Amino acid sequence: LDFSSVDRLIADLETCLDTTREVSPTEELLVGVDLGTAFIVLVVMNSKREPVACAMEFAQVIKDGLVVDYMGAMTVVRRLKAQLEERLGRELEKAAIAVPPGTGESDCKTHGYVVEGAGMEVTNLLDEPTAANAVLGVEDGVIVDIGGGTTGLSILEKGKVVYVADEATGGTHLSLVLSGAYKVSFEEAEEIKRDYGRHKEIFAAVRPVIQKMATIVKGHIEGRNIKSVYLVGGTCCLTDMETVFEKELGIPVYKPANPFLVTPMGIALSS
Ligand code: ATP
Repeated sequence: LDFSSVDRLIADLETCLDTTREVSPTEELLVGVDLGTAFIVLVVMNSKREPVACAMEFAQVIKDGLVVDYMGAMTVVRRLKAQLEERLGRELEKAAIAVPPGTGESDCKTHGYVVEGAGMEVTNLLDEPTAANAVLGVEDGVIVDIGGGTTGLSILEKGKVVYVADEATGGTHLSLVLSGAYKVSFEEAEEIKRDYGRHKEIFAAVRPVIQKMATIVKGHIEGRNIKSVYLVGGTCCLTDMETVFEKELGIPVYKPANPFLVTPMGIALSS
């Protein structure tokens, strides 16, 4: 696995949050919509599978993969779509979406209705680890996705997901702990947590929760011949997260430069 090319691609996508690449009026565009607990992200790639534009918004309209505010979710997707269309000078007609593994059929449909309600035809619905793996290209190993609400893990064998699990400890829990430790509101704690400049300072306070996440993963992979772990999801942006995991699991842990954008990009690549 060549992580430098993954990192380059993700860094490229990161710049597309502020800048927009030119696209021809006719080339096919790949669009991915990631409906997360904390953020809704839209990614557009060109026909050469390069990122061209990306937009995201903080929105609490989805909880652990379930749409809890249908109108709210649709409004945000519509707004992000309009923003990207304006930037690209192209209409976005189709998109792929992803759901956490194990999401029921009717909940999958609701995800689809959100995106269709926002004016895009859904061309593919995949599970999040499969989407992440469209970027990572893991053959054998475990992809750990830590988002807002949960720690999810997917074991891959020969490039296929063979086992999944999801447990309720995520970034929200880190923010709750920080909010208590610093005596600030949840929103302020979220901001502190996302500030890379303060990661070192907050590490001692959040370490027990990270340790718990690593223990969750350990419980699920024990007894299996896992040789590598791949960290994705917004919470894995925390500096030094990987060292806690490596210590707990005793196997190499790989973390891309920006774990937050891996799944959204993979969704677009799978459209
Ligand atoms: P879920 O996967 O639980 O449905 P989601 O898809 O919204 O949620 P992500 O977008 O992958 O999850 O991650 C959101 C979480 O990542 C939030 O808790 C957010 O605070 C956290 N996060 C985002 N950026 C950073 C950062 N730079 N440092 C630490 N945490 C971060």
